[in-house]
This record gives sequence, structure tokens and C-alpha cells, in this order.
Amino acid sequence: MKYECDVIEDLLPLYKDKACSAASSKAVEEHLAECPKCAQMLNALKDTVIDEMIVRERDEVIDSQSRFFKRRSAVIGSVLAAIFALPILICMIVDLASGNGLGWFFIVLAAMFIPTSLFVVPLMAPKNKMFLTMCSFTASVIVLLAVCCIYTRGSWFFIAASSVLFGLSVCFVPFIVCRRPVNAYLKNFKGLAAMTMITATFFLMMICIGIHVASRNYFILAFGISVPLVLLTWIIFLIIRYMPANGFVKAGTCIGVISIASFIADVITTQILINNGVTVYSDYSYVGAIIGVAVGVILIAIGLVVKKGNKEND
Ligand SMILES: [Zn+2]
Repeated sequence: MKYECDVIEDLLPLYKDKACSAASSKAVEEHLAECPKCAQMLNALKDTVIDEMIVRERDEVIDSQSRFFKRRSAVIGSVLAAIFALPILICMIVDLASGNGLGWFFIVLAAMFIPTSLFVVPLMAPKNKMFLTMCSFTASVIVLLAVCCIYTRGSWFFIAASSVLFGLSVCFVPFIVCRRPVNAYLKNFKGLAAMTMITATFFLMMICIGIHVASRNYFILAFGISVPLVLLTWIIFLIIRYMPANGFVKAGTCIGVISIASFIADVITTQILINNGVTVYSDYSYVGAIIGVAVGVILIAIGLVVKKGNKEND
């Protein structure tokens, strides 16, 4: 052999692309005829080229498809936006023509934000479609409430808006925390963040109602009832999410906690009723509590046995 394999190996990529001189080409060909190792290397080089071509072709197909779908959703989105704009335009013309100023116009304008947020936003948002749709829907409902409240000169906006915010956060927050872009920031704290958000909107709603009702009894009663319930919900959540145990133990603990909590709540409400002169007939709530705690203990016992069994199998 005239040349070392190392030299030929360096030349192979150039040879494959037909980019080396005639003399080099000849030297490579002579070497390849005698050296199966370098011939194999050339074949491998050609194979990777084919693989790369397939990948590039695949990417081009996906690209053109997604461009097609993006174009199509943009067209559908524009058509829908135009349809939603129609009543706004008609209302503006009628409102102005009737000489009443732009009263109804703003209500219709705000009302049209709702279908827009539900249909146009997901079609036309370039990314984070679900997140943007949920946020814009919530915002558009609140804007509509604000406009209606101003139009009717009402004072109910904060009650309505905070209630809507609480209701929608119960529905949307569990989804929002699991999806882009929020999930990237929350990582392992999705459940905690969702619970905090729902608790915050709940108390915001309670405070807004309280301010509107303007009664001292309201705060004592409303928070007296809701704080223990919210606490119980948090305890259940923390048990399910963070207790280092299997499903049986968690379920048993939850059932036990709920049984004890409802027993305590029953005792307190019975006492309040008696204090207010209501006759309370024989109360058997302790039976339910005992059954609940017993079921909890049995489940925990099963859980511990299962855990022990798994350990022995290991
Ligand atoms: Zn060689």
C-alpha cells in the first residue's frame, strides 16, 4: 500500500463529495481496492449521508404541513373574528343612529370578547394556546361584567368578578399549572401553586362579598365556617401529595382525618343550635366517626402489610 490508512481516512470525506484532485482520487481508489477497512468506512460515510437526507426530507414535510395548518387556522380565525365583529358594527350604527350615544355598543363589544377568546385565540395564537385561551376567556368575562355593572350603575362588580375568578380558577388552574409556559417555572410545585391560587381567589371572593354585605356577623360566620373547611382541604391535599406512603395508607389517613373533622364540626354546630334554642334530637354522629376512623385504621394496616410484603420481595 502506497499510503497509510490515516491519510486515506482524511481524504475520504472529500472523495465522497468529489471535491479532491484527480491525483488524490486515484490514490484513494487504489487504496480502497486493497484495503477493505477503508472501503467499509466509505460506505458508512455514504449511509450517514442517506440518513441525513431522510431526516431533512422528513423535516421539510412536517414543516410544510404545519405551515399549511397554521395558514388554514389563521384564515378560519380571521373569518371568525370578522363574524364576531359584525354585531359590534351593527350595534354601533344602530346606537349612533338612534341618538342614544354608545350605550349598548360597549356591552356587545365586551360580549364579543368571550367567543373571540374561545375560538379566535386558540386558532391564531402562535404558541401556549391553552394558557392564552384560558387567560383571555377569564379576562373577557370580567370585562363584560365591568361594562354591564357600569351600564346598570350597579355596585355588584367586585362580588361578580371575584366569584367568576374563583369559579374559573377551580376549573382552569389545575390545567394551567401543568402546561406551558407556567409548568416550566413551577416544576415540582404545580399542586401547591394550584391550591394556593384557588385558596387565594376563594378568600378574595369571601372578602368582596363581606365588603358588600357590610355586616360584622358576616365575617365571623363566613370565615368561621370556611376557614376550617379550607384547612381540611389543605390537609387532605398535603397528605395525598407529600406523605411518603402508599395509596392505602394515604386513603386511610384521609378517611380518618375527614371522619374526625366532621365529628368535631357536628359537635360545634349542634352546640350552636342548642345555644340558639333549637331542640336537637339524639345525635348519632359519633357512630359515623367511629366507622370512619375504623375504616381508616384498616386501610392503613393493609397499606403497611403491602409495604412490608414489597420489601420482602425485594
Ligand atoms: Zn486503509
